[in-house]
Amino acid sequence: MQDLTLLLYKWYISGGNWGNEEHQLHLQDDLSDEVNRKKSEYQKYLELYKLMRSRFEEHYVKSGRGGRKLDEVRDKYQKACRKLHLTHNEYVLLLCEAVEFEKDFRTVLLPGLLEHQQSLQEAFILAWKQILQEVSTNSDCTADKFREIQKRIEASLESIKPNEEYKDFTEKHKTTPTEPVKFTFDESLVEDSAGKLLPNQLTVDNLTVEWLRNKLAELETSIKENQEKRTALVTNPEGFVNGKTEVNNRLITNVDSTKKEINELKCQERKMLKQTELIKSALNELGCEEVPSGCDLSIDNQTFISNSSEQVGSSESTKRGFTHQKIVNMFRKPFRRKSVPSSPIAPPRTKGRRDSAPRSEGGDPVSMTTNKSLVDEEWFHGVLPREEVVRLLTQDGDFLVRETTRNDECQTVLSVCWGGHKHFIVQTTAEGHYRFEGPAFPSIRELILYQFNSGLPVTGRSGAILYKPIPRERWELNNDDVVLLDKIGRGNFGDVYRAQLKNSNEVVAVKTCRVTLPEDHKKKFLQEGRILKQYDHPNIVKLIGICVQKQPIMIVMELVPGGSLLTFLRKKSPALTDGQLMKMCLDAAAGMRYLESKNCIHRDLAARNCLVGYNNVVKISDFGMSREEEEYIVSDGMKQIPIKWTAPEALNFGKYTSLCDVWSYGILCWEIFSRGGTPYSGMSNSKAREKIDSGYRMPAPENTPDEMYRLMLRCWEYKPENRPNFEQIYTVVETLCAAYRVSFL
Ligand code: ADP
Repeated sequence: MQDLTLLLYKWYISGGNWGNEEHQLHLQDDLSDEVNRKKSEYQKYLELYKLMRSRFEEHYVKSGRGGRKLDEVRDKYQKACRKLHLTHNEYVLLLCEAVEFEKDFRTVLLPGLLEHQQSLQEAFILAWKQILQEVSTNSDCTADKFREIQKRIEASLESIKPNEEYKDFTEKHKTTPTEPVKFTFDESLVEDSAGKLLPNQLTVDNLTVEWLRNKLAELETSIKENQEKRTALVTNPEGFVNGKTEVNNRLITNVDSTKKEINELKCQERKMLKQTELIKSALNELGCEEVPSGCDLSIDNQTFISNSSEQVGSSESTKRGFTHQKIVNMFRKPFRRKSVPSSPIAPPRTKGRRDSAPRSEGGDPVSMTTNKSLVDEEWFHGVLPREEVVRLLTQDGDFLVRETTRNDECQTVLSVCWGGHKHFIVQTTAEGHYRFEGPAFPSIRELILYQFNSGLPVTGRSGAILYKPIPRERWELNNDDVVLLDKIGRGNFGDVYRAQLKNSNEVVAVKTCRVTLPEDHKKKFLQEGRILKQYDHPNIVKLIGICVQKQPIMIVMELVPGGSLLTFLRKKSPALTDGQLMKMCLDAAAGMRYLESKNCIHRDLAARNCLVGYNNVVKISDFGMSREEEEYIVSDGMKQIPIKWTAPEALNFGKYTSLCDVWSYGILCWEIFSRGGTPYSGMSNSKAREKIDSGYRMPAPENTPDEMYRLMLRCWEYKPENRPNFEQIYTVVETLCAAYRVSFL
């Protein structure tokens, strides 16, 4: 406090004092200036006076006492004389004033000022003293007033009753809840769905079944988590609030929050249980038929078979038919059977049956009387993917048998083309026999044989009759035809083997799919086979077949002896000439040009996914991510994307075209010329991505021909439309190879 006073005091003293003194000094200066000014003025008029006087004397002497000119000069002389005298007086008066002021300044004004300042300082200090005294009095905790205030605060705190505080307010202001909202299904939404979608009922078809199963699993997990959380809350109500231990206000808030949280969890659980029930009952009602197709346009215009016209063989099946009626109606593709017998019990085998001569080269499926096992039958297709099945069954009555896995359980399915594609799951009886709706048989083969020979519809409702068994295609090999020799690699789905085909002794490469992988992974695995099966080009690895008869499913391919290009480059790089490297780029361009012409986007072109054959020929391989589309938009997230090989538009917008493969081709060429180097070495994926977006491009690997590096840069144009296509790339690389005199042998 003392320091502050001192500070303020100094400030005041200095500010005030200097201000007044300055003012006085200004007055003194002004006065001196004015005296000097007057003096110069005096001197000026004195000069003028002297001049006018001498002129007058001159004229007076020249012209005597008269004349106009003399009058003029006299007049001026008199004016100058007058001015001089006036100035003289002003000067005298001013000097008098200055002398007096000077005297007063020293004797009266300055001492007065000092006195004034002294009294100001005193007043200031007095004011401060009073303030400090007041502060001192009021901050005295021992003062009565202070104690009284303290008591009042304590009493007020005492009187706060949390449970009563809002009682009146709540009573007065609480409102009654609004009318319950009725959530009803707007039936107009499903009017145009031809019965495929029903109000308040879940639709189970091939478009939704996977989603429903995932949803069910998701719900079940959430319910379990919810129950665990609830148990934790019940057993430790105070310590567990939203998963965190709160320290402050534990007693009240925690217990209340816990109660509230338990209630919320209960409500959530009830809601999820209801949804679970709904999904479970929809999936259970699927019954013996496999998931129907959700959008088979070929049968959309046709009509339902009326329930009354359906005759079902046994009372058991009738019962089941009715149990399923509701759900089956939901799934069923409406169609009108063309030559369905009026009663399935008395099938007109000869009537309306089309020529059923099998296409099979092997056994005679019409007789079906030998002791073959099911897997030996030409029309047994193992775990052939559904898409392939649909492609094979083209006419009403075409059928085949296959296997599928549902809920980890292997099921045998009879697929029939009958006004669309029908898939019937073979049912197992309590005795371990097999049946659809009719009689049961000890083996599935016999059951199918019966269905085929009797000409009875597989189910009364579908009316589907088996006319023509569809045998396996050339590329559907039997697992037992392949002998695995030794492991040569490891893929994403399983190991890769060198193997031998029993029939031809041909040595091949076999990719296997791990038995334990989920069904959708197995489908993805086979995707490569489906794509490769249609291609035939020296720079694309050749498919020999797929083995889907039993597990493990396998893809059989030509054996490319040099293995992966990446390993080859790393191991053999010193021995490779620039010309050979250029030729590798040409091979890859040839393969990619072929794929481009087939509208196939590879999506994973990289040295690790190319193989090296005889004479160092490069073959494009690993079609696991490929798509046969001009443009492919990825919408389900971008898991496992090879960031450093992928074009920016694919990374940023999920948009894939052949021009994305062009970008990857640029990286592949970089890998080739760096002899197996790692692109963007030392950079993380995200850093590389960021740098590319800001315009960075990898420098050319050492000794890369300029033209080749220019081509790489063109492949890495940010905008896909500025990149060359594979046709153009091939031409450029071919010209380069010619310039390097590369042998094309
Ligand atoms: P995935 O597609 O499952 O990742 P890859 O196609 O990459 O499997 O194969 C893994 C490894 O197996 C390759 O790097 C290569 O060494 C070897 N390989 C794959 N196919 C063949 C083949 N046709 N000939 C020779 N080796 C092969």
